[in-house]
Amino acid sequence: MSRDAFSNFSTALSAGDDEPGRDAALRRLYEEAQQARMRAEQAHDRAASLQRITAALTGLVRPGEIAAATVSSCAALLGAYAGGISLLTPDGAHLEIVGSVGYSPATLAAFQRFPLAAPSPIGDAVRDGRPVLIETPDAIAERYPAMRGSPSLAVAALPLSLGERVVGGLGLSFDQPRSFDAEDRAFLTTVAQQCAQALERARLYELAVEARHAAERAAARSARLQAVTAALGEAMTVAQVAQVIAAEAVQALGAATGALVLLHEHGTELDLAGVVGFPPEAMVRWRSLSPDTAIPALDAIRRQMSIWLPTHEAMLAAYPHLRADWDPAHVQAIAAIPVLAHSRAIGVLALAFASPLADSPEDRALALALAQQCAQAIERAKLYEAEHRARAIAEETQRQSAFLAEASRLLADSLDYDERLARLTRLVVPFLADYSLLYAVAPDGAYVQVAVAHVDPAKEPFLRELGETYRVDMANPTSVIARVLRSGEPILVAEANFSQARAITAEPRLLELYVLLSPASYMVIPLSVAGVIVGTLFLATADSGRRYGAGHLALAIEVARRAAIALDNARLFREAQAAIQVRDSFFSVAAHELKTPLTALLGQAQLLRRRAARDDELGGRYLRSAELIAAQAGRLNAMINELLDVARIERGQFALDLAPLDLRILVCQVVEEIAPLSEQHTITCATPDTPLLVRGDAARLEQVVQNLLQNALKYSPAGGAVAVSLQGDGDAVRLLVRDEGIGIPAAALSQLFQRFFRARNAEAQRIDGMGVGLYVVREIVTLHGGAVAVESVEGAGSTFVVTLPALAPARAPDAGP
Ligand code: ADP
Repeated sequence: MSRDAFSNFSTALSAGDDEPGRDAALRRLYEEAQQARMRAEQAHDRAASLQRITAALTGLVRPGEIAAATVSSCAALLGAYAGGISLLTPDGAHLEIVGSVGYSPATLAAFQRFPLAAPSPIGDAVRDGRPVLIETPDAIAERYPAMRGSPSLAVAALPLSLGERVVGGLGLSFDQPRSFDAEDRAFLTTVAQQCAQALERARLYELAVEARHAAERAAARSARLQAVTAALGEAMTVAQVAQVIAAEAVQALGAATGALVLLHEHGTELDLAGVVGFPPEAMVRWRSLSPDTAIPALDAIRRQMSIWLPTHEAMLAAYPHLRADWDPAHVQAIAAIPVLAHSRAIGVLALAFASPLADSPEDRALALALAQQCAQAIERAKLYEAEHRARAIAEETQRQSAFLAEASRLLADSLDYDERLARLTRLVVPFLADYSLLYAVAPDGAYVQVAVAHVDPAKEPFLRELGETYRVDMANPTSVIARVLRSGEPILVAEANFSQARAITAEPRLLELYVLLSPASYMVIPLSVAGVIVGTLFLATADSGRRYGAGHLALAIEVARRAAIALDNARLFREAQAAIQVRDSFFSVAAHELKTPLTALLGQAQLLRRRAARDDELGGRYLRSAELIAAQAGRLNAMINELLDVARIERGQFALDLAPLDLRILVCQVVEEIAPLSEQHTITCATPDTPLLVRGDAARLEQVVQNLLQNALKYSPAGGAVAVSLQGDGDAVRLLVRDEGIGIPAAALSQLFQRFFRARNAEAQRIDGMGVGLYVVREIVTLHGGAVAVESVEGAGSTFVVTLPALAPARAPDAGP
């Protein structure tokens, strides 16, 4: 009981002698006690309610929930039909409802957000920092005329303050007029305080959560950027870099499509380098865009600034002329971030989104970071590509020169020119062509296939058939080959097609061959020597799908230059061979034809000489003439015999008549016969004491000794010593003929035994000869299983050495043990 109640109670009791007065006093006392109890209960309820509110608010972190819990507890306790909590916006100019109960949607809509300056109980409470408690509808209407007729017949509005700072207000509406006693006020003030603190806690909590999210987002972003860096590490070419960036940007920012568009060096063309989610027709449109078109991506390049259009409205507001291009069903937002390298825009990262963009600073930062990484990676890729290109060119140049060196080597390899050309034709496949054909132009203008090669050997017969079937019609203006032959200029057809072939020929089989060979790209290069076209080299690509360009043509021309020389050499070689053939057969025929009359002439000359020698009268006058005739006829005979020998050797009819013989006897005889013929020379003949047996053809071996000895004399025009010697060492017998004559030039030594060869110094000193003797000598010695060699120093004499296998002397009959 309160002190007041107690004093009333005592006063009532002291009035006890007056009966009715005492009843009244008792009733008053009772009522007072009742009221006191009610107040006590109310106070208890409020205290309990405050406790509940405190407990409830402690567990809540969302402002809306805190507001709702606070308002509904207050409303229940104070009998309000509705209530709400509004908070000041960050700019402090408006109030925004964060939670409410009981208001009609219309009321809520009207007060969802309203200016702080507008007259309202909450607004006043917030502005003044003091409660606004209005107990009757009249008082409400008087202070807030706009609220006249509202269902609220009493209102309470309290500021929500944190220390000095007011952050919002709590409002309660009552459908009955009511008074607010001191306890109501105290209660409301306490609740408002608690609510303010709970809301502040929630705000701080939200800030903490937001900070954590931001940190997480930052971590995710740096992880993504790291992943991008890793992916870019793999990307070598500009196209690969662009693709990585476009893909990452689309994924990181949730775009529907993305493209990295690069500006060409000269800035007049766009290159759609990396594309994600673009339909092909859109790609075609992009490619045909001029860089000055007014679209966000190209504006971003021009302005060197990002363009973010987070909604369809924003897009249309900035680019009304693109309304038809932007289907709102697909494009709701657009971002274009320029890629800057050395403060120059080299391209743009263009993104389109299917839904409006939250447009967070993080997203912008991420997009910028991606564009920056892209710029660096593209710079790097460009360097890489340039280096790669340079290396590829160097390698290609190296390959080409190796190829040309190989071509030159092939062509200088042997005397068989046809074989060389076949090898050259093969060499260009597959390095320079899928198939190749080499044609020669004969002096009569005939166009003859020389060699063919195809990567697929099964198709070579078609190439050969082409050689047999195709005749160049020089009058045909569409014939590529005729054009090349006429102009002497090469022709490159980068894209071959069937209609070109049909224009050249209507021959069905030729067209069939064309289809079977199906050239994709081809070149025809004339082969010319000293301005005369000697052939053509036809190179084509087929299944490899390669297309010829200027580089290929240059290389082909180099190959053709070498082929032309080889082709011309082949012609000269063949002509020389033919000339030699003619010469050989002429000598052979002539020798045969001359032999018969010469034999008769020689016979008669000898007869004449013998008669002259016998007949004194005649002898004096004619003997010398007769001897001269016989000697010259003898020389002529020897020459013709040598020519006949050559003809026999050529025909393989040179045969030996072998028998054992002592070479000492044979050699001495020849030396004795020849020695008297020369007075200028000192001829010696040294032989061992023991027989030197060989199995040989005596006449032919005599011929060998005669030849070598006569040469020794003939090529020592100034005279001197000529030494003939024989040596035997068991297995072999050696004949040496040494002179002190003109010797043999070193360069001539290797060709000395070829037929018709004569050394330069022999010709220069006008020493007669046909260049046949040593050829026959070698043939005879070789047929005996021996060998002939020469050692000589020009001007100091020569030594010819003939080695023959020795015939072991027949063993004496075994005497027995
Ligand atoms: P030729 O009828 O020319 O003498 P050979 O076949 O006998 O034909 O000789 C071929 C060439 O070898 C000669 O033309 C000459 O140049 C050279 N020759 C041969 N023997 C000698 C020699 N003893 N000294 C110098 N040169 C020689």
